[in-house]
Amino acid sequence: MYTLKFDANLCKICPTCDCLVLCQYMDLDIDKAKEEIMKISEGEDSFVLQDCVTCYGCEEYCKRGNHPFYLITERRQQKGILTSPRAITKQWINIGEPRGKYRLGEIKEKILSFGFMPEFLQLVKGRLFDDVMPSYVFGQEFFCNVVYIHFANTSIIKERLPMVIDNFKKLGVQEVVCMHDECFGSFASLAPAYGIEVPFKSIHYFEYLYNRLERLGDEIRPLNIKVAYQRPCSSRLSPDKHHFVADIMKLIGVDLVERRYQGENALCCGGIFGMAFGYELANDVQKRNIDDMVDSGAEYCVFNCPACQSTLAAKVTKKGIKPIHIIDLCRMAIGEK
Ligand code: SF4
Ligand code: SF4
Repeated sequence: MYTLKFDANLCKICPTCDCLVLCQYMDLDIDKAKEEIMKISEGEDSFVLQDCVTCYGCEEYCKRGNHPFYLITERRQQKGILTSPRAITKQWINIGEPRGKYRLGEIKEKILSFGFMPEFLQLVKGRLFDDVMPSYVFGQEFFCNVVYIHFANTSIIKERLPMVIDNFKKLGVQEVVCMHDECFGSFASLAPAYGIEVPFKSIHYFEYLYNRLERLGDEIRPLNIKVAYQRPCSSRLSPDKHHFVADIMKLIGVDLVERRYQGENALCCGGIFGMAFGYELANDVQKRNIDDMVDSGAEYCVFNCPACQSTLAAKVTKKGIKPIHIIDLCRMAIGEK
C-alpha cells in the first residue's frame, strides 16, 4: 500500500507554520498552529480534524514540500472523522467506480483528459483544440478520484489512482493534457506524495491554452473587459500553474481585476461546503466572494472548474456579472463565440 511522505521534522523547525496560520476558515497563531500540526502528525486528536472545511489551501501555503492537507485527510480516515454524512460519502464513492463505460476519441500520443466531467464534451471544441482533438478520454476509468480528499478518504484514491494511471499507460500515450486541476494535481502532486509512479508527461490545460493562443497570435482580438477569476480548490495542488490565468488574460486583452479574495486568499465556491459543512457557511463564503467581485467592478466571472461554475453561475448572474468558462473566454477572443 502507498504511504504518504510527510516529514514531521520539517514542521518542528518550521518558522511560519503557514499551513494553518494562513487557513481562511480557522484562526490560529503560529504557536497554536505548530502545536496542532505536531499533534496531527503524531496521530493525536486535534480540533483541526473536525473544523477543516477541505479547501486544499494548506497544500499551497506549505512551501517546504510537506503535505498538510493530505495528512489531515489520512488522519480523519484513520479516526473515522467523516466530513459528510456516511450515505453521501458512499454515494460519491459509488459514482466514481469504474464500470467499463468510458469514452475514447481517436487516441494519439497526446490526448486530452476530460476525467469524469461531462461538461468538457461540450466545452472543448474549435481551433484551440484542433491540434489534439479528437484525441480524448472520458469516464470513470480515467477519473483521478482526488475529489475524495473532500470526503476524508485517501484509501479509495490509493486503490483507484494507480489503476487509472495504468489505463492511460495501456493506451500508449506520451502526453496527457488535463482539462481539470484535480486531474493534473493527481499526477503532479498526489501521486508523487504517495510514491505512485506516473509514466507519461502531464500538462495543465492552462499551459496548453496559453501556448495555443500564442500560436494563433494574429487571430486574437483584445476583449477589453473586466473579469474576476474564481479559483477552484483543486488549483491549490498546482500553484505553480496559477500564473497562467494572468498570462492568458494579458494575451487576450482582458483586465483581471484586483480583488481581496484572489491568489492565495481565494475563497472556495462553497459547493462542497453546503453539502458537507452546512449552508450557513457556504452562503457566508459565497456572499463575501461575490460582493468582492462586484466591488472590484468585474463584468464577467471567469471559471476554471465546471463544478464551481454550476455552483456560482446563477448567483453571480443575479448580481449583474456574466459567468463564463475560461475556454469560452479564449474562444471569444479568437472570434468563435
Ligand atoms: S506542514 Fe509545512 S507549513 Fe505546516 S508546519 Fe509543516 S513545514 Fe511548516
Ligand atoms: S484544507 Fe483549508 S480549511 Fe483545511 S486546514 Fe487546510 S487551509 Fe484550513
